[in-house]
Amino acid sequence: MTEHHEIIEAGWNFDNSYARLPEALFTRLDPTPVRLPKLSRFNEALAATLGLDAQALQSKEGVAVLAGNRVPEGASPLAQAYAGHQYGYFTMLGDGRALLLGEHITPSGDRVDIQLKGSGPTPYSRRGDGRAALGPMLREYIISEAMHALGIPTTRSLAVVTTGEPVFRETELQGAILTRVAASHIRVGTFQFAASAGNGEELRALADYTLQRHFPDADTGENRYLALLREVSKRQAELIAKWQLVGFVHGVMNTDNMALSGETIDYGPCAFIDAYDPATVFSSIDSQGRYAFGNQPSIAAWNLARLAEALLPLLHSDEDQAIQLAEAELSHFAELFQRHWLSGMRAKLGLLNEEPDDEALIEDLLNMMQKHRADYTNTFRALTFDKLEETGMSGSPEFIEWHKKWQARRGRQQESEAASHQLMKSSNPAVIPRNHRVEEALDAAVDEGDYSVMERLLDALSSPYEHSGKQAEYCSLPDPSSRRYRTYCGT
Ligand code: AMP
Ligand code: MG
Repeated sequence: MTEHHEIIEAGWNFDNSYARLPEALFTRLDPTPVRLPKLSRFNEALAATLGLDAQALQSKEGVAVLAGNRVPEGASPLAQAYAGHQYGYFTMLGDGRALLLGEHITPSGDRVDIQLKGSGPTPYSRRGDGRAALGPMLREYIISEAMHALGIPTTRSLAVVTTGEPVFRETELQGAILTRVAASHIRVGTFQFAASAGNGEELRALADYTLQRHFPDADTGENRYLALLREVSKRQAELIAKWQLVGFVHGVMNTDNMALSGETIDYGPCAFIDAYDPATVFSSIDSQGRYAFGNQPSIAAWNLARLAEALLPLLHSDEDQAIQLAEAELSHFAELFQRHWLSGMRAKLGLLNEEPDDEALIEDLLNMMQKHRADYTNTFRALTFDKLEETGMSGSPEFIEWHKKWQARRGRQQESEAASHQLMKSSNPAVIPRNHRVEEALDAAVDEGDYSVMERLLDALSSPYEHSGKQAEYCSLPDPSSRRYRTYCGT
């Protein structure tokens, strides 16, 4: 009896604080059951950190929860309402194919959202079917877990289950549901929704809630809503700098895909750059290059301005003064981003102190890399291990000149060469989820039901700064024919 009880509960410990917010912000709704749930991938390590019983979650009852066929005790499922600027245009959105089961409180007291993505239609589905396909859900699993291992704040992936039901996109695909774990799913778009709905009560409640949940220390009395804007900007500056430092292109930085927690969210058309080029775009529908690699910092600033607009009524009763306050706050973003990026770049080059010319040294390297179409990840790895021929630039006089300058610069610091090398090792990943490797893993899993390719990839991605021998195979580049990589939004 006891054992049965344990199997069913699996350690879930739900609280539902979001469900206590004003009703306009969500719709209560249960997941739509699926025909034949089957576990596709389960994240044992994440389950352990969440205080969940991995074995119980992989049992029949456990999988029924991950498939939305059974609502666990204490959960109170709901679809969150939000709006958003998509490619610059404002739209009403909301969880169209996801449900928040509730917030799980971990044994150490952390509060995380447990969300099922692909769990069936909701009032916010518009013309969509509310479902998701196996390939894209496994892709989110792989890339989000890789981002986490790279040290980048991100939503996590606890499990993927197949539904036993088809989903129809251009072709018939296997349906799947991802269990997403997040600090929260509060987006810039959630604030845009709150600001445009109701009488102001929703907006204030959401702002107070977000402050309490994510920035309890910022709520010190002065203008608490200005403090909220400041703290969100700080986290975004840090996050986007981390993206730029590893060459991550999010691909669809609409305001509904920017989380106030500072986590990377919504892995649709994202991908990592190979040849260094700020104009890199992977998404097939981003024809204008709005969300190109090099635009990400300025798009983040644009999105923060939309957040500030939503917050205006809370910042000051006089609109002009509210605008002034918001503008003054947001004017720091570019500098904040640059500071994080520069310090990350110094680390990538093994520089432990600061010199005024560092920025020029870094820019010179990046310009050369762009000109020679040098692979971003492999170039920094080659510099780390002094394998200059692997930069693809070693024959070039300007590179030789640059290298001399860099060596001289490293020599001028007090710290030992070993410390500098160590810093480079821990700042330059050996492996990133290279597009052709991710595709290969997904093809085997989705088409053949062979998960071994994905398992090996996930293993290599789990310790990107280890630089072990077994990771070497993941450093190789795709052959030229597959280099025009495209990602698709219709996930
Ligand atoms: P995304 O591009 O994934 O950020 O999604 C944008 C909006 O479309 C969100 O409101 C999603 O919930 C919704 N959406 C995406 N795919 C579907 C689908 N298959 N069915 C219903 N809504 C969807
Ligand atoms: Mg989204």
